Amino acid sequence: MTDLTSRLHRRRAEILTEIDEVEIALGELRAERRERSDDDEHDPDGTPLSAQWSRLEGRRRAAAADLVAIDDALSRAEHGGYGICERCGRPIPVERLEVRPAARRCVDCASR
Ligand SMILES: [Zn+2]
Repeated sequence: MTDLTSRLHRRRAEILTEIDEVEIALGELRAERRERSDDDEHDPDGTPLSAQWSRLEGRRRAAAADLVAIDDALSRAEHGGYGICERCGRPIPVERLEVRPAARRCVDCASR
């Protein structure tokens, strides 16, 4: 279980790095957007800024959701309930937790 907790912490650090990277990229894009005129937005050679923007926003949303799930798992690891399926109450196999450390349900329940 300690192994899994350190996995959660590692995953959390990765997510924070990802959020940092996305924030920096969004900042650069914002600056670039200010510099470009509306015509440049349709530059055929480059990906439109709006497309880059929505891709980054998607990454940010996904990372934020992951972070919530990891924090929730860490809190359960500390206060109890971690690794127990919230639906059927059976232990979630370690193999599953190794792949998805923030899983709240066993495979059976998750697929229902
Ligand atoms: Zn279950």
